[in-house]
Amino acid sequence: MADIKDYLNENGIPYDDNKYAKDFTTFKIGGRCFAVYPGDADGLVSTVRFCRENGVRYTVIGCGSNVLFSDNGFDGVVIITTGIKSVKREGNVIKADCGAALHTVCKAAYNGSLTGLEFAYGIPGSIGGAVFMNAGAYGGEMKDVISKVTAYSVRDGKTIEFDNASCGFGYRNSVFTSGDHIVLSAEISLEKGDKDEIKAKMDDLLGRRKSKQPLNYPSAGSAFKRYPGRYTGQMIEEAGLKGYTVGGAQVSEKHAGFIINKGGATADDVMKLIGYIKEVIRKREGVEIEPEIRVIY
Ligand SMILES: Cc1cc2nc3c(=O)[nH]c(=O)nc-3n(C[C@H](O)[C@H](O)[C@H](O)COP(=O)(O)OP(=O)(O)OC[C@H]3O[C@@H](n4cnc5c(N)ncnc54)[C@H](O)[C@@H]3O)c2cc1C
Repeated sequence: MADIKDYLNENGIPYDDNKYAKDFTTFKIGGRCFAVYPGDADGLVSTVRFCRENGVRYTVIGCGSNVLFSDNGFDGVVIITTGIKSVKREGNVIKADCGAALHTVCKAAYNGSLTGLEFAYGIPGSIGGAVFMNAGAYGGEMKDVISKVTAYSVRDGKTIEFDNASCGFGYRNSVFTSGDHIVLSAEISLEKGDKDEIKAKMDDLLGRRKSKQPLNYPSAGSAFKRYPGRYTGQMIEEAGLKGYTVGGAQVSEKHAGFIINKGGATADDVMKLIGYIKEVIRKREGVEIEPEIRVIY
């Protein structure tokens, strides 16, 4: 890692080579990492370019709310975008950098009396992570509001603009999920609305999250994607797995769709629990459920 340290030092890009994934992920799990904190898109792009040119493994994350890192950490650099966080409102459009928190963007929409993004209030991710995952809740998805994404193509080294159609949004999926592009920023197009109604909706959805989700324990949100036409949490509950525990990882008693870290959970515990749940559902229902959590090993 000596070369990359020289590179980051020369370019004034902050890093910490003794960071633990458990300290920058909402799951509070994962071993030692070399974390890089670019402060702008140029720093992000140049770090990715350096890694590619020098054969250094890298991964780009935002708020770390949908990821599980190995107990051994990551054998490369983890580029964390949360320092790249400008949010600007121009008319009905919000322009947000990849590391801007959804929470901040939702607040900007509310401040501008703009409606359409309320569904995202309470999702603890960044714009980059939300675009990558096509995050959604309560009947809304990022695909409903994104009008433009600016991304860096790691293969040809160019910055490209995507309109909504070329983002390839699907259920918890997008063209970015392949890993070939780094999301740098996005434009969110909303409509004029009533400020009180926007606030009421945001408060209502946040209240529903608090009452249904195990927010008092670390997690990465829904552990599994919805199976077409079925709520996976319900399938897991019907299989009697609520409270099922492996080491420190547990199927939440409050919401069976969540795997929580009850304390001291390892990535190995979570992976074993995911494997067990998949096996039980396969035997009971004859279907394969797919993790929503992104595993970074
Ligand atoms: C309590 C809780 C509730 C949640 N509720 C919801 C919900 O209702 N709906 C929902 O959809 N999700 C939910 N999530 C999951 C998560 O918050 C979302 O998927 C969120 O969009 C992830 O954003 P992030 O910045 O944390 O991404 P990260 O976890 O940091 O990364 C997720 C993936 O995106 C990639 N990525 C991140 N940034 C970039 C970038 N700039 N360019 C390219 N790739 C990038 C990473 O490599 C990784 O593969 C919840 C999570 C928790 C903990």
